[in-house]
Amino acid sequence: MNIKIERLNPDKLKTKPTDESQLGFGKIFSDHFFHMKYAEKQGWHDAVIEGYRDLCLDPAAVCLHYGQLIFEGLKAYRGKDGSLYLFRPADNFKRMNDSAARLCMPTLDVNSTVNALKQLVLIEKEWVPRSSGASLYIRPTMIATEAFLGVKAAAEYIFFIIVGPVGPYYPQGFSPTKIFVTEEYVRAAQGGIGYCKAAGNYAASLLASKKAAELGYTQVLWLDGVQHKYVEEVGTSNIFFLINDELITPPLGGTILPGVTRDSVLEIARKWGMKVSERRISIDEVMDASKKGTLQEAFASGT
Ligand SMILES: *Cc1c(COP(=O)(O)O)cnc(C)c1O
Repeated sequence: MNIKIERLNPDKLKTKPTDESQLGFGKIFSDHFFHMKYAEKQGWHDAVIEGYRDLCLDPAAVCLHYGQLIFEGLKAYRGKDGSLYLFRPADNFKRMNDSAARLCMPTLDVNSTVNALKQLVLIEKEWVPRSSGASLYIRPTMIATEAFLGVKAAAEYIFFIIVGPVGPYYPQGFSPTKIFVTEEYVRAAQGGIGYCKAAGNYAASLLASKKAAELGYTQVLWLDGVQHKYVEEVGTSNIFFLINDELITPPLGGTILPGVTRDSVLEIARKWGMKVSERRISIDEVMDASKKGTLQEAFASGT
């Protein structure tokens, strides 16, 4: 991939936040972004890193009407040694390709996209926070840009990556959060797009989150779409329970987002010799374990 790089003049750069404890999540974006175009005949082309700016879209762009929009989320961290680290970035682009295949969108070359990301992060290296708990959030996104109204896969797309400094995802930081188990709404059904980071999944989750927030809860715990019985995910994270020294997480299989963090937790726990199970777990099993005192921990995993 040949990337044209158009750096902004130093006098055009934004003022960076000074207080890293007040970053919040997803509110601040850096000076530059990466983007490239796709057309059926040309494949991916016109890769560029340039000043962060508005996109120009036809109002009939397919992504605005039929939801061909997928994204990813990962982070760059500044290590104690001052070096910058990405956490398993190739896994994010592989997962994006799975989302793309499901929504009939073009796939990316994983290696060259990781390289494009590295170039962007290096150009924006001063935006990577220095304090513990803060990092540079990375949002790769692919949208269908072809202008037509009709339910079929578009022939034109853009892929872009924006980045920005963030603190903890939850406003409570890293302290415990109150979780609402919804029996009314479901996030995904077998055969659907639950395993994709597709925009529509998040729009569909908003009402349950809103109702949970009105009741004083931070996030929604989703149960399966058929019996409303088995635990699936919590908010936009995977979920784990430690019961009787068994680390349990629901199995992948279509309705659950295959988290990179989930996979890392499983790998580390197995390496530590813990008893690890990817198995169905009903909300009743969790409640019973809680009553009996065998529920030792419950946590969410996500970037
Ligand atoms: C992104 C996401 C996760 C977590 O994935 P990570 O790769 O660990 O960040 C889990 N569930 C949903 C619904 C998600 O969107």
